[in-house]
Amino acid sequence: MPGKTVLILGAGIGGLVAASRLRRMLNKEHRVVLVDRSPIFTFAPSFSWVMLGQRKVERISRDLRRLERKGIEFKAAEITGFDFENKRVQAQDGEELPYDYLVVSLGVDYSSDEVPGLNRAWTFYHAEGAEGLREELPNFSGGRVAVCVTSLPYRCPAAPYEGAMLLEHLFRKRKIRGDVELHFYSPEQLPLKATGKEIGGRVLDLLQERGIGFTGGVSLKSVDHEKGRLNFSDGSDAGFDMLIATPVHRLPNVLKRSALVNGGDWVSVDRKTLATAAPDVYAIGDTTVIPLANGTQLPKAGVFAHGEAEVVARNLAAEIAGNDPIWDYGGQGSCFMETGGGRGSYITGHFFNEPDPDVVMRGPNRMWHWAKVGFERNWLWRWF
Ligand SMILES: Cc1cc2nc3c(=O)[nH]c(=O)nc-3n(C[C@H](O)[C@H](O)[C@H](O)COP(=O)(O)OP(=O)(O)OC[C@H]3O[C@@H](n4cnc5c(N)ncnc54)[C@H](O)[C@@H]3O)c2cc1C
Repeated sequence: MPGKTVLILGAGIGGLVAASRLRRMLNKEHRVVLVDRSPIFTFAPSFSWVMLGQRKVERISRDLRRLERKGIEFKAAEITGFDFENKRVQAQDGEELPYDYLVVSLGVDYSSDEVPGLNRAWTFYHAEGAEGLREELPNFSGGRVAVCVTSLPYRCPAAPYEGAMLLEHLFRKRKIRGDVELHFYSPEQLPLKATGKEIGGRVLDLLQERGIGFTGGVSLKSVDHEKGRLNFSDGSDAGFDMLIATPVHRLPNVLKRSALVNGGDWVSVDRKTLATAAPDVYAIGDTTVIPLANGTQLPKAGVFAHGEAEVVARNLAAEIAGNDPIWDYGGQGSCFMETGGGRGSYITGHFFNEPDPDVVMRGPNRMWHWAKVGFERNWLWRWF
């Protein structure tokens, strides 16, 4: 059998796992080619620690070119288009990248322009933003801090709650908590809607125990920095002195123009196999939408991108070896949520369970904080 080329677009969590798994399972005659606009991978789950000055970005970053020694071909390029009929992908440098099988894991684009004033808000949703906050927070001596989920969907639903609780602890440690009013705003009526009411209620309790206010059911429409006001779509507004917000999340531009999106906002896939509408093309991770039985969607989180990558890689390896693909993706996922003071929670469950996901929350306690530290170390060691 002639050698096949598996082309993987996006070297974030999904793409990296897919490439590494495939490389381990495929014979040397087959190529595994991984493409990303950036040659550097950065581990987003640690951004809240960067914000607090507990991690340097360099410590949680890895050079993707190191993967060459494992036999994964890495190409730094901006993907600009697709030709599914002729099984080719176009890159900005004019090169056409051929494939036998394509795995798309291009994540999300951040767009701040849709909400006037949002581009001047603080965010720890990217490395530069987290570093910016690390510089700014020591200058903050008191006032109203608004932590805001701007719009749905957004990556890692627990992360903004983790950020709010870590900030609350930081202000206590700095002995300025009495001078800080912390408030959380979200379009969801209850935190972490996809996980069900019980978990949402428990997260709300954690906020209340820490004196963090919560207003649900509000979407940010604009930010007036001069007056220090947040304006919401329902006409309500709120004051702030420091705003920390999630960016608006959108499908990457290059995919908007592709046949993988049939009128929706994200790439539709078969939830068991991650197959798309195009032959031999699979999509995984944040780029996709997987509806759940309770009317929500599978959250956009690395744990799901990782699990989907494992299924696609194993099935492709089987198919290339002439065997039947037998793996089904089951929607299982877990995540850590730091709660401050060296403690954390662990949220885990089966998201394809019907009628509601079957999810439990453990902690908070010290063990889950250390489990997250171990997870970070293990993840960066295992895939590089
Ligand atoms: C603050 C924060 C905390 C988080 N915490 C957790 C957590 O604790 N647990 C968890 O499970 N998840 C967490 N996440 C979410 C997790 O990081 C994402 O869900 C995960 O990275 C998604 O993987 P992906 O492969 O779909 O996309 P990504 O990891 O975003 O990878 C997409 C890649 O595609 C590349 N790309 C995009 N467009 C192009 C193009 N046109 N050409 C070339 N390259 C392109 C990008 O450069 C990027 O490297 C967190 C996210 C944030 C922001």
